[in-house]
Amino acid sequence: MTTASYKKVLKQIEHKKVKKDRFLKFSKPKEHSFGRGARRCRRCGRYGAHIRKYSLGVCRQCFREIAKGLGFKKYGHEV
Ligand SMILES: [Zn+2]
Repeated sequence: MTTASYKKVLKQIEHKKVKKDRFLKFSKPKEHSFGRGARRCRRCGRYGAHIRKYSLGVCRQCFREIAKGLGFKKYGHEV
C-alpha cells in the first residue's frame, strides 16, 4: 500500500464501523507538522523533490510539466 492510497482503504471499510475505528486508531499514517512528510506535491502527491521556492508547492516532475505555463522561460533543453 502506498501512502497516497490509505483513503482508499478507508472507503472500503467505511460501512464496517469497528474495522474503521481500528484502522483510524492503529493504521492511519501520522499527520506530520514539519519535514518531508509534511510537504506533498499539490499536483500528484509525491513527497520527494519538492519545490517550495516561489510558493510553488509541486515536485520537480510536475514543475517540468507546468513550468512553461507558469511563465518560466529557461527550463530544460527546449528552446
Ligand atoms: Zn508532482
